[in-house]
Amino acid sequence: MYRTLTCNDLTEKNVGDEVTLSGWVNRRRDHGGVIFIDLRDRYGLTQVVSHPENHPEAHGAMDKVRSEFVIQIKGKVIARPEGQTNNNIDTGKIEVEVSELNVLNTAKTPPFEIDQDKDVNEELRLKYRYLDLRRKRLSGNIVLRHQMTKYIRDFFDKEDFIEVETPILIKGTPEGSREYIVPSRIYPGTFYVLPQSPQQLKQLLMVAGFDKYMQIARCFRDEDQRGDRQPEFTQLDIEMSFVEMEDVMSVNERALIGLTEKFAPNKKIKETPFPVLTYDQAMNRYGSDKPDLRFDMEFTDVTDIAKGCDFSVFKSVAESGGIVKALRVEGGGKFTRKEIDELTEVAKIYKAKGLAYIIVEKDELRSPIVKFFKEEEMNEIMSRTGAKEGDIIFFSADKFHIACESLGYVRLAVAKKLDMIDPDLFAYCWVIDFPMFEKDEETGGLAAVHHPFTAPKDIKEFEENPETSVANAYDVALNGNEIGGGSIRIHDEKTQKKVFSVLGISDEDASQRFGHMLEAFQFGAPPHGGIAWGIDRIVMLFANEPNIREVIAFPKDQKAKDLMLGAPSPMPDKQLEELCIKVDIEEEE
Ligand code: ASP
Repeated sequence: MYRTLTCNDLTEKNVGDEVTLSGWVNRRRDHGGVIFIDLRDRYGLTQVVSHPENHPEAHGAMDKVRSEFVIQIKGKVIARPEGQTNNNIDTGKIEVEVSELNVLNTAKTPPFEIDQDKDVNEELRLKYRYLDLRRKRLSGNIVLRHQMTKYIRDFFDKEDFIEVETPILIKGTPEGSREYIVPSRIYPGTFYVLPQSPQQLKQLLMVAGFDKYMQIARCFRDEDQRGDRQPEFTQLDIEMSFVEMEDVMSVNERALIGLTEKFAPNKKIKETPFPVLTYDQAMNRYGSDKPDLRFDMEFTDVTDIAKGCDFSVFKSVAESGGIVKALRVEGGGKFTRKEIDELTEVAKIYKAKGLAYIIVEKDELRSPIVKFFKEEEMNEIMSRTGAKEGDIIFFSADKFHIACESLGYVRLAVAKKLDMIDPDLFAYCWVIDFPMFEKDEETGGLAAVHHPFTAPKDIKEFEENPETSVANAYDVALNGNEIGGGSIRIHDEKTQKKVFSVLGISDEDASQRFGHMLEAFQFGAPPHGGIAWGIDRIVMLFANEPNIREVIAFPKDQKAKDLMLGAPSPMPDKQLEELCIKVDIEEEE
């Protein structure tokens, strides 16, 4: 038997017991004759000690082992001498006096220290992921992830949801993102794709009568790796029949509250029921469709004032259908020129042309733009924003989206700068009433904001003015991160066809790509809707980690590479021949 207990089991109650433990040498210390080893396994650490005179052979072996050797020890549990106990670990009151030591495997010196939580170059961590996973931080995250997904499964099981596995090799039917394709050997020249989400399959499960479906599902998207994305990621995928938006939101809200209470007990949920904002409200007030509500700082609209003023930048924007938003920052009057320049740069990243400001001082308003406003206009700005001495007001003037979004990022940067964010707060909110469509910058046509299966909120409005219609869609955000999104779906062929046509998908194309959906809708499809949560992002927020790679056992790097396995990699010619694939790329210099 390799072990009788784990490295986290022994307490004072075991003093006198003979035990066998197996694990890794976390650290070895030679105190002039007496040698200590911290033996580590997944569960914890146990201190092992040897005295040269007691068991000379075991002591000799203790002398030879090195960090990360895998060893088995046998020995007697003894109480640690007074003053040498360690309250930071569960086994801190005892140690094991070794009588026998067997080396189960040796280890090279690891490329970074496993026993310490030091910053290590990420490339190295990803290349030796199996070593990084030995470290407490990562192993803790993976265990947390397991517990959270188990909680989610149990929660939805109690609510009568059935977990159904959907296929990974499916038909190429892009919903919006680029898909990974997999060549078929049996049918050369044809391809499967990896699902960007089980969207269509879960809807077909509703047609099949499953009523409440869930899956912890892997999704694949062949996108440019901007920001914190992974080519494959995990969703909690949900679909329900005979539901309205509120029904989907309610069960999901309960699940999120339960999850928070259990796995983030030190976080206070700012508001329950979660506040619900329309997309327009969220953009108008916070400049984001996933607003961070841990702090207030709402925008004020001053477009009407701007229309009458003499500041040509504001005036022309306001007169040409754009908007002018103001952001009052309490205590921001102390910002230096350099800080204001930095915030201006933030606004510019999001396409703003600049960031006007007014600093409110005791007897004057300090700003290059004040002179263009009449006194009553300035008074109105002061009273609307509520600005007082010591504050600064920032302004953005542009088309709706740019003005809101750029000022939204200024709002976030300011909150960080002024330490306005309570780290112990979880501020959830729902954002609803998204537009159905947006302009696709690449094609110039319309694209679905959510996906093409989302139902319009008001069918009449959609039929009359599809381009500007509102979707029956909802997102859930946590502390400024989108953690989930879903919608009520179309369940009739006619509306679905119309959405395809608004998206510029011809009837022929639609029936080729989505014929299975259109046909299924003719066989008694129930009204249905669903949602998906980004599991990686949620675990990241619960684990207080800065990116999702820290909560994924084997992530790709930010350029979509698996540095441990060395993927992607070229394939042998023979395999490519079988698939009738010819690779035609210029050799890189
Ligand atoms: N399939 C959607 C997504 O992956 C979620 C949903 O609508 O349920 O974003």
